Amino acid sequence: MALIVQKFGGTSVADPRKIKAVAGRVMAYHDKGHRMIVVLSAMAGETNRFIDLAQQMQKMPDPREMDVILSSGEQVTVALFAMAIKEAGLDAISFLGDQVKISTDSMHTKARIKNIDTELIQKHLDEGKIVVVAGFQGVDENNDITTLGRGGSDTSAVALAAALKADYCEIFTDVEGVYTTDPNIYKAARKIDRISYDEMLELASLGAKVLDIRSVGFAKRYNVPIHVRSTFTDTKGTWVVKEDKEMEDMLVSGVTYNKNEARITIAKVPDTPGIASKIFWPISDAGIVVDMIIQNTRAGELTDMTFTVPKTDYDRAMELVEKIAQEIGAERVTGSRDIAKISIVGVGMRNHSGIATTMFQVLSNERINISMISTSEIKVSCVIDEKYTELAVRALHDAFALEMENVPDE
Ligand code: ASP
Ligand code: MG
Repeated sequence: MALIVQKFGGTSVADPRKIKAVAGRVMAYHDKGHRMIVVLSAMAGETNRFIDLAQQMQKMPDPREMDVILSSGEQVTVALFAMAIKEAGLDAISFLGDQVKISTDSMHTKARIKNIDTELIQKHLDEGKIVVVAGFQGVDENNDITTLGRGGSDTSAVALAAALKADYCEIFTDVEGVYTTDPNIYKAARKIDRISYDEMLELASLGAKVLDIRSVGFAKRYNVPIHVRSTFTDTKGTWVVKEDKEMEDMLVSGVTYNKNEARITIAKVPDTPGIASKIFWPISDAGIVVDMIIQNTRAGELTDMTFTVPKTDYDRAMELVEKIAQEIGAERVTGSRDIAKISIVGVGMRNHSGIATTMFQVLSNERINISMISTSEIKVSCVIDEKYTELAVRALHDAFALEMENVPDE
């Protein structure tokens, strides 16, 4: 008998029929003797509809009022869900974030959970009920309703699992789990059985389609095992758990790509103390997030500085950098939108050498030029021409034998 938190996303509760199906699924767990807490999102499309409505009232909707409307989608699904359970003859009770209470800071529309009272939920679980909690919402010190940012229900579920010391948290969604790479790019992509929190955080771009990456940070901190899986099948999904020995034996667990960044190079920058801060202050001041940075060493007093920014900020960043370049007497600024960042991720990198070299070799065999490289403890990233993205992903996936069938453990 376990205490389980199950979270169902918007597509899983998109209409009354789906809500009944999901309720059936939860009841089957309850029948086996498990204590069940269910966290729900709003029906698919609802949150967008609310944002649209709000914008018809105010160009920049008041954040406090925005949260009052945004939180209402989840209020509908939890009540419908509890009704479905009752109709089927079991007992359930729904709660909103402020009833539970899920305390957050006051950053409306992107609040952070600070504390969760477990007493009320515990009491109703003890009475044999299925407890249904509205995801994505909380309440601040002033008793104002807050929401956690788009996709925040995953974090609600993991936070509840942490607070109640649940055995695990299952995130039900419309995909079967986390894959070794994007299956749309490479058919050989394989569903990963188990992956560590750190790998999941680094695989954000693959993982983002599956679960809200903020919830993984939470899970790691409180050591909550997460099982991401499909609502529409019974197949086992991907377990996101604490790192173990077995994982270290795998060299690479996934290959990701990111086409959302652009490259900017300032050529022949005077190589003097303070120059990097002169360049990057105005950029960060403008709220532009710089990702990779490399500075070359040239013979003499000049250097080149290359970095990446989100594609959507490229024009703004270019404008700023051209101004800065003039001020500091750099020779010229060039840039490109047509880049992609390819990354390999794996905790095995911590104690195996030569993985980065293999990556460079694989790209070179495909005659793909690398224009930037960055590494972290468990990740190597290369910036390449965008048009080679698919080729690079496939070649790396093959080279690290990621398509290999895992031995089924059930
Ligand atoms: N309903 C919210 C959204 O669409 C929260 C969630 O689904 O996790 O972003
Ligand atoms: Mg979601």
